[in-house]
Amino acid sequence: MLLGCIADDLTGATDLALMLTRAGMRTVQVMGVPAANADFDGFDAVVVALKSRTNPAAEAVAWSLASADVLLARGAKQLFFKYCSTFDSTDQGNIGPVAEALLAKTGAEIALACPAFPANKRTVYLGNLFVGEQPLAESPMKDHPLTPMRDSNLVRVLQRQTKLPVGVIPHAVVDQGAAAIEGAFKGAALIGKRFVVVDAIADRHLIDMGRAAASHKLITGGSGVAMGLPANFLAQSLMKAAGSATRMAAPNGRQLIIAGSCSEATRGQVKAAIAAGIPVHEVDARAVAAKKLGPADLVSWAKKQPASAPVLIYSSAEPARVAEVQREFGRDTAGSMIEALLAATAKALCADGFTRVIVAGGETSGAVVAALGVTAIEIGPEIAPGVPWTLARDGRPLALALKSGNFGGSDFFLSAWSHLV
Ligand code: ADP
Repeated sequence: MLLGCIADDLTGATDLALMLTRAGMRTVQVMGVPAANADFDGFDAVVVALKSRTNPAAEAVAWSLASADVLLARGAKQLFFKYCSTFDSTDQGNIGPVAEALLAKTGAEIALACPAFPANKRTVYLGNLFVGEQPLAESPMKDHPLTPMRDSNLVRVLQRQTKLPVGVIPHAVVDQGAAAIEGAFKGAALIGKRFVVVDAIADRHLIDMGRAAASHKLITGGSGVAMGLPANFLAQSLMKAAGSATRMAAPNGRQLIIAGSCSEATRGQVKAAIAAGIPVHEVDARAVAAKKLGPADLVSWAKKQPASAPVLIYSSAEPARVAEVQREFGRDTAGSMIEALLAATAKALCADGFTRVIVAGGETSGAVVAALGVTAIEIGPEIAPGVPWTLARDGRPLALALKSGNFGGSDFFLSAWSHLV
């Protein structure tokens, strides 16, 4: 293993793993803190998917350090702490505390911080994060239910989360290329900075900062920064680039789609699947609450459908309906009730002939993966930007596509299968 990554959520981990795979690194994704003897054989990069973004900081730090211990003991030459491209993190943490703990663990002199992802319209200029044309604190992120971002200046945001000095490497330097950025890292370290927010408004800035940080023991950022890292290992002849396949050999068996996301993209995908005539079963929250609909009902319905086509089980609903349900049952109760039902249904069907599974929704994916007991997945071909097919690594016959709600085009539930053979 060359690169050991720690991601603060599941779909973010997959996004990073895919980025590394595309750049030629053989990558495996592990769910939760890996066991000391986890099977990493044959992989250049390991991505640990934690669910630590909004946990108490002490818990996020403990899990991140435990993961770092395993990754370093298993030979990682560099650690990458991956967080969201909108820097989802309040003054209570967790980015600062985790980054600080990993800096101490690796003995790194300085670490960069850069959530930029220009392809997704996240850019950093003079330390300020922009979401599209809006500064972070004026974007919809200002009202995020868990991590409202009310300050666009990442130097200030990060400095409130850590006692270590935070600096910035501005666009004027970054735009001159890798050598200039490397010089700025050294200059910042000389004046005592331990973290530097690095500007990036285009992919080439991310690639150059990755190259400039080749010798850094710790890197922190969004998945965009990972763009520049595989080239460092290739340049040092530490690995050979693996070709990225467009199709994946998957276990034979039936196809299942579980949609627990209510985001606009997923609702569009459900509509397209219904229009295409795929057998569908809606999950009505009230029926679930009244115990009129349970996993056994969905399992027996799915098994009665023709084996030749996918089946779709969805709870996806329009915002007004979701709001009604949340008012009636409470947001968390409604969410966990539906997640539990979908997860139990997926588990039963996967034990009964379904081997090719798409899950829509970040939290929903987490619940399904936990119910299935999948501990590691191998990253396969990209279906849509940020979403790969993956294979369960524990020997069971299972191909999984875990999709963050907003990802993928409207035909995702129809076209994803063409990447499997
Ligand atoms: P996304 O990736 O779009 O955010 P998630 O799966 O992370 O999707 O989150 C969606 C949440 O909404 C889950 O907790 C899910 O159980 C819940 N949910 C799904 N359908 C409904 C519904 N009809 N009413 C209320 N909540 C729902």
